[in-house]
Amino acid sequence: MTRRATLRGAERTPLEGAAARADVLVCGASFAGLAVARELAGSGADVLVVDRYEIGERATSACAAPTPWLHAMGVAGAIRQEIPCMAFHTPHGSARFRMPWSWSAFDYRELCRLLWDQCDGARFEIAKVEGRGNVAGSGTRAAPGGPPVAAIGGGAGVADGEITISTDRGDVTAPLIVDALGWRRVLGPGENVQPPEALISRGLEVHPHGGGTDLDCWIDRSLVRYGYAWSVPADGEQRVGVGSYEPRHHVKEPTKEIARRLDVDPVRYQGNWFPHALREAAEDGVFFAGDSAGHCLPLSGEGIRTAFHFGIACGRELRGVLAGERTREQALAAYGDFSRSHAGAYRVMGRLQRWVPALPPRLLTALIALAGRRRPCAWAFDRYLGVAPPPRLESRVPWRPSPTTSAGSSPA
Ligand SMILES: Cc1cc2nc3c(=O)[nH]c(=O)nc-3n(C[C@H](O)[C@H](O)[C@H](O)COP(=O)(O)OP(=O)(O)OC[C@H]3O[C@@H](n4cnc5c(N)ncnc54)[C@H](O)[C@@H]3O)c2cc1C
Repeated sequence: MTRRATLRGAERTPLEGAAARADVLVCGASFAGLAVARELAGSGADVLVVDRYEIGERATSACAAPTPWLHAMGVAGAIRQEIPCMAFHTPHGSARFRMPWSWSAFDYRELCRLLWDQCDGARFEIAKVEGRGNVAGSGTRAAPGGPPVAAIGGGAGVADGEITISTDRGDVTAPLIVDALGWRRVLGPGENVQPPEALISRGLEVHPHGGGTDLDCWIDRSLVRYGYAWSVPADGEQRVGVGSYEPRHHVKEPTKEIARRLDVDPVRYQGNWFPHALREAAEDGVFFAGDSAGHCLPLSGEGIRTAFHFGIACGRELRGVLAGERTREQALAAYGDFSRSHAGAYRVMGRLQRWVPALPPRLLTALIALAGRRRPCAWAFDRYLGVAPPPRLESRVPWRPSPTTSAGSSPA
C-alpha cells in the first residue's frame, strides 16, 4: 500500500493562535487551490493553504493539459512529453487528429512544486478539512492573534464576519475561504450529495512503463457503456485508464481489459471521481474552484486547465477584496457570475456526453473521421480550448469582471 507523505499521530499538533487564523484560507493544494494561492502572491495578505497531504503527494489524474496553459502558468518545467496528435478509436475504425495546439503530459509533483514556488508569502499546513464551523456576524471581529477583519491587506473591503472551518488539527478562521477540495465539496451548505447519486463520473487508471506519441482515446461499448478509455504517453510511462459517466458502473475490469488489449501491465493504480455538472461557485460566503464547483468539463473529463482558469478568476476577486476595491459579497457575486457565464458551454458538452454513447457506433466512426479533417479539427479544438483559454503570459494584474463577461472569455 502506498504510504502518503502527511502528518501522522502525534505530529498532528493543534493549530492555535496566529497559526489558526489567516486573511485567506485556501482548502486544497492541488490544481485549483494552488492557482488561487499563486494569484495572491505579493498581495501582503496572510494566505494559509491546507491539504490532508503534502503538496504534490497524491496525483489522481493522467496529468495531461493543453501545453499553452502549462506555459502560461509557468510550469513548463514539469512537462514530460508534448503530444501533438490525438487518435480516436471505435470498433469500426480510427481517426488521427493533428491538433491546432498540443497536449502535454506532466509530472504532478513537479508541477505542484513549481506552482507553490510562485505562491510567495503563503503558508502551508497539513490538515484534513472536516466542514464548516460557525459564521461570526461582526464586521470587525478578530480571531485571537489576528488583525481586525476590516484591516485585512490594508483595505476595507471585507464587511462581513469571519468564517470558521473545522479541521482535524482544530478550528481555523478567515474572512475569505476557498474550497478547492475536489469533488467532495466539503464546505458546501446543506446536504452534500455524494456518488453514485451525484452528477459525477468515475475514473481509474494504471501507470505501466511504456511509450507512444499520440493521446489515444477509445469509444467502445465493449469496454465501457457510457464513457471512454485513454492512453497518455508520458516519456517512458503510459497512463492508461477508463472513465465512466455513469457512476454506478465500476471501471476496474474495463481498466484491466484496456491494459490487456494494449499489452501493458495493470500496475500502479490510481482513481477518483470527477464531476460533470457545474455547481454554484460562490455559496454561503465560500468560494469554490475546480472540481468542488463542478468545473471539470463534461464529455472529456478535462479538469486541470479549468481548475486553473477558475482558480485564477477566484484569486483575482480575492485580491480585489484584499486591496479594498470590493467587499467579499461583491467578489462572491462577481465570481459566481463568472462561473455561471460558462454554463452554456458546459450544457453543450453535457449533451454531447449523453449523445456520443447513444450514437450508432458506425455513425460515430464516420463523424469522428469527418471531424478529423484539418479544418473541422482546428475549429472544434479551438472552440474547445476557448471554453477556458490560456491567460496571456504577462497577465498578473488584478482582474475586474465586466458585466458582459461571457463563456469562453479569459479572466486574464
Ligand atoms: C483517473 C482520472 C484521470 C484524469 N485525467 C485528467 C487529465 O489527464 N487531464 C485533466 O485535465 N483532467 C483529468 N482528470 C480530472 C482532474 O483530475 C480533476 O478535474 C482535477 O484534479 C481537479 O482539480 P482540483 O484542484 O479541483 O481537485 P483535486 O485535484 O481533486 O484536488 C483536491 C485537493 O484537496 C485535497 N483534499 C481533499 N479532501 C480534503 C480534505 N477533507 N481535507 C484536506 N484536503 C483535502 C486533496 O488531497 C487534493 O490535494 C482526471 C480524473 C481522473 C479521476
